[in-house]
Amino acid sequence: MARGPGAGLGRHASVRPGPARGAAHAGALLARWLRHAGDARARAARVPPPEALVLLHRGCAADTHAPLSRASTIGPVTSPRIAVLGAGIVGTAIAYELRKRGADVALVDRDEPGNGCSFGNSGAISVSSVAPLAMPGVLASVPSMLLDPESPLRLPLRYLPRAAPWLLQFVASARPHRVEQAAKQLAALHAGAVDMHEAMARELGVPGLFLRRGHLHLYIDDASLAKDAGAWRLREAHGVRAERLDRAGIEALEPDAPARYQVAMFLADHATIVEPFRYVQAMARAFAANGGRVVQADVQRLESRAGGWTLRGAAGEPFTHAIVAAGAWSNQLVAPLGIHLALESQRGYHVQYTDVRDVVSRTVVLTDRKVFVTPMEGGLRVGGTVEIAGLRAPPDPTRAAVLDRIAREAFPALEGRATTTWMGHRPCMPNSVPVVGTVSNHPGLWIATGHGHLGLTDSLPTARRIADALLGEGVAGRGA
Ligand SMILES: Cc1cc2nc3c(=O)[nH]c(=O)nc-3n(C[C@H](O)[C@H](O)[C@H](O)COP(=O)(O)OP(=O)(O)OC[C@H]3O[C@@H](n4cnc5c(N)ncnc54)[C@H](O)[C@@H]3O)c2cc1C
Repeated sequence: MARGPGAGLGRHASVRPGPARGAAHAGALLARWLRHAGDARARAARVPPPEALVLLHRGCAADTHAPLSRASTIGPVTSPRIAVLGAGIVGTAIAYELRKRGADVALVDRDEPGNGCSFGNSGAISVSSVAPLAMPGVLASVPSMLLDPESPLRLPLRYLPRAAPWLLQFVASARPHRVEQAAKQLAALHAGAVDMHEAMARELGVPGLFLRRGHLHLYIDDASLAKDAGAWRLREAHGVRAERLDRAGIEALEPDAPARYQVAMFLADHATIVEPFRYVQAMARAFAANGGRVVQADVQRLESRAGGWTLRGAAGEPFTHAIVAAGAWSNQLVAPLGIHLALESQRGYHVQYTDVRDVVSRTVVLTDRKVFVTPMEGGLRVGGTVEIAGLRAPPDPTRAAVLDRIAREAFPALEGRATTTWMGHRPCMPNSVPVVGTVSNHPGLWIATGHGHLGLTDSLPTARRIADALLGEGVAGRGA
């Protein structure tokens, strides 16, 4: 789940350590098998030239601390007509920012805005999450996690051959120098996100959706905290301030925190959006009220015509720019253009206790369970799980049942309370760094996806970077 929030394979990999050598051996076997399966699939698939991806990553805002280059846009466009494909939090934030700066923008989605992955996330603005999911040593922990039915990671065997190429890249991303690089890129992208969301909630007229009360990461004891030392060191290296609390400190903040947690790390300046769906909807409404067009259409194909872009399946007008922000489905739109993103869905789940409001008062992370507990407007939300099973398989009710069990064990007051459950597709790159930028040889085509566990957090920074690069200070001036 929620790593952005936190849970996930690498970072919070709760290893049930068998003998270390056994795990390492199992890890090595898994790596060999993955390599074999990955090679076979790569041979079978039409593999695009690697340059496409390299260029995309070079165009990734997070790659540098500088704004995106405008070089590969379609040159000086005085009145751009822009289609944003995908009205999740990322696409909606981009459309909102571009319209605010005066551009003619259509926000296109087959569903109503915010109904994809952005519907049910944990709401955490996790600017300290600079550690990518792939951390050194992660591979050794995978076999034991896969064998544990309560584990935060699930990968059905039937999906393993499909996932193998992505998993291989994930493993390669865990090399120390690549972790450092990803952390730098993520920290650059996260910068200022808490303040941006606070200002946005105010601007949209929904200030009550923004809660700046910190995030509390609970650990059983110092030994379990020590297992996460790598991630906390990375946070510290990037200027994150966190305070270690003992049990008395925990109770001062959250009196009902489960007794088994004796130690915590508190991120005082962190924030939470207490109803992520309503947040996207408010943004989409404000976009429309400011002259933006919300178009409901299932885009079948993106076509480049006469120096512009048309959307098959949507209105026939040509656009000067197309921005693909279709989350975990983005490959379906760019693959026919010969662009293949190393994007995989990490399916996450939540259970929401609809009539419960007073168990915790801020985002609380049960680190041993890789679970986020959030006081949402509509009840207590417990989110987590990383399930790598693709876009087509139906939700697996046993994953939500595991979350429910974990929640009731931690907070007995939840026993017997009414629940709703949900599953969403996190769009994940192997190195956890989103793809934000332009594509060489495809003038006017932009991509903004792969935000993984941090799409809510990074939506506004992504939108700002794209608008800066595409429009500069605005067609009709900022705030038009
Ligand atoms: C359990 C869970 C907890 C999480 N917690 C957090 C958190 O606390 N903090 C955080 O920052 N992040 C969190 N995340 C991650 C975050 O929710 C995602 O990164 C984010 O929602 C991705 O947004 P998106 O706009 O890229 O994708 P989506 O919200 O999935 O939007 C993509 C949109 O594209 C549309 N689309 C796709 N293809 C087409 C097409 N062909 N034609 C028309 N429309 C199309 C879809 O209908 C969809 O609306 C969590 C995720 C999960 C699953």
